[in-house]
Order: sequence, then structure tokens, then C-alpha cells
Amino acid sequence: MMITEKLQQVKATLKPGVRLVAVSKFHPTEALQEAYDAGQRIFGESHVQELVAKQETLPKDIEWHFIGHLQTNKVKYIAPFISLIHSVDSVKLLREIDKQAAKADRVVDVLLQVHVAKEETKFGFTPDELLDMLATEEWKTLQHVRLAGLMAMATNTDDTAQIAREFDTVSQLFATAKERFFATEPAFREISMGMSGDYLIAQEHGSTMVRIGTTIFGQRNYGNG
Ligand SMILES: *Cc1c(COP(=O)(O)O)cnc(C)c1O
Repeated sequence: MMITEKLQQVKATLKPGVRLVAVSKFHPTEALQEAYDAGQRIFGESHVQELVAKQETLPKDIEWHFIGHLQTNKVKYIAPFISLIHSVDSVKLLREIDKQAAKADRVVDVLLQVHVAKEETKFGFTPDELLDMLATEEWKTLQHVRLAGLMAMATNTDDTAQIAREFDTVSQLFATAKERFFATEPAFREISMGMSGDYLIAQEHGSTMVRIGTTIFGQRNYGNG
């Protein structure tokens, strides 16, 4: 099936108000162009070099989202154009984004990544770490980043009840953070959760933004990446 059709199929399953990030990592620019021609404007990438190369060639009205683990020394390459960084997992990274966004004369929207999955390999703040970090209020002094919400990945499991519990944990954490620190900040409003295998669960448990790759673009060929 064509990307255009798959994209329409996925969009037809999304609840009103849930935004779609088309995760295009490891797929060639032709695939992104096809999705773009079908109306998609938000694309998610997880490798800086690949993202920069695609951004240079594809239409300028694309909203690029960074969704992978971001190393501080690479922030400078994406700060001039990135629309949303989903994966802020340390204060050090937040400071670096602020610094590079200042150089680019921008304010960059970011999400704080929360670790709720069972896998050790996933990045992010635990719920307690997140609330402690927000309580320091250092983030308020960073003029070139704007905290726009939370991002999380659930455990890679067939246990849908466990996945639902993890997404609920994130939604509850979002509500707590919103009430304590962002009650008067409308910009803090996104919960980025849900991938090809679990987005239908995620959108029933508070997601405002789903990140879908495989269902739209097919399997990734890491060998050629
Ligand atoms: C690759 C990736 C996705 C997309 O995963 P699919 O299973 O292909 O939909 C979503 N989020 C993150 C953080 C990813 O790295």
C-alpha cells in the first residue's frame, strides 16, 4: 500500500485533537515528500545528521520534531530550525538547548521525557526526578526554551494493561506538574505518547501527540541508515 493511503488510514483512527508526528527516521526523502504531498507537515527524526540533511532538501514549511536521545554537543545543529524537541532528559541538555536557541535568536519548545517503562535502556526523568527538577525553578530562568509538556515511551510488551498503566502514570504526572508549576502557562499542554504498536491505547489515556513510523512508512532499513 502507498504511504498516502496508510497516512489517511492512521489519521482516520486518531481522536479529535490528537496530533500526528510522522516518524520518518531511516526513510529516504522521497518517502517524506510523498507524505508531505498528502498533507502531512509534522515529521519526527531521531538522528541529528539525518535530520539536518532532510531539513535542507525538503519544503520549508515542515515542522521538524526531534524525538531521539539528543547529545548536548549536537544541539547546535538543530537549534536554528527545530520546532519541538520531545526528548529532554536532563537539566544539562535543557541548558544547552537554551544556550543554542539564544544564539539562533529563538525560543525552542521542548518536552520533558519521563521514564515509566520497565526497560532500563529508555531515557528520561523518573516521576519524582521530574517534579524535583521542576521544583528547583531553574528552568524559569532559561529564556530561550519553553516547556510544552511531557513525552514518554511505554514498555515494549504485549501486556496492554501494563501499557495503559504506564500511560496513566504519565497523564497523572502531567496533571500534577500542570497544577503545581504551569497552572497559568497555556503552552504546557502536550503529552507525547504512543507509537505504531500502542498509539490506540495512548490516545485513550491522555496522549495529545502520537509518534508513528512503521505503520505509515513500513519497516526501517537500518542497514542503509
Ligand atoms: C522510532 C520511534 C517512534 C516510532 O516507532 P514506530 O514503532 O515505528 O511507530 C516513536 N517514538 C520514538 C521515540 C522513536 O524513536
